[in-house]
Amino acid sequence: MILFSSKKVQNRFFSINPILIYIIGDMALYCLNKKLPFKINSTVSTEEEDIKYGRVSMSHREGRAVDLALDGWSENQRKTFCKVFNDKYKKEAAVSSKTKRSLLCVYGDQQHLQHIHIQVHKRYTMDGIVEIASNK
Ligand SMILES: [Zn+2]
Repeated sequence: MILFSSKKVQNRFFSINPILIYIIGDMALYCLNKKLPFKINSTVSTEEEDIKYGRVSMSHREGRAVDLALDGWSENQRKTFCKVFNDKYKKEAAVSSKTKRSLLCVYGDQQHLQHIHIQVHKRYTMDGIVEIASNK
């Protein structure tokens, strides 16, 4: 089952790229089988929200990133999860500017370590997403 941190996050989920929705479905099934909680903290964002959360990447604004809550996950479960899905979706993953490596799944960011950030490649950017997000 997919849980959302708020109704707003849930509504915006359907504006993300369908490739990412597909991957999230696969991840939710994995978590169901492992009895791991699967809660989405963040989907599409506005520029104001990105500034507020100290985000350096535009991936949420571009409709190609989702944040997963880590409540109830051990460090090992987190590591295994990221290994499994980074291997499985290598072709869909984003490229990190720091490491030049393809990454689908990273732990948080400098400001927010307690979530997993899942992002697909820039080619999956959704056009016009900023307008949609600002209104909801
Ligand atoms: Zn994120």
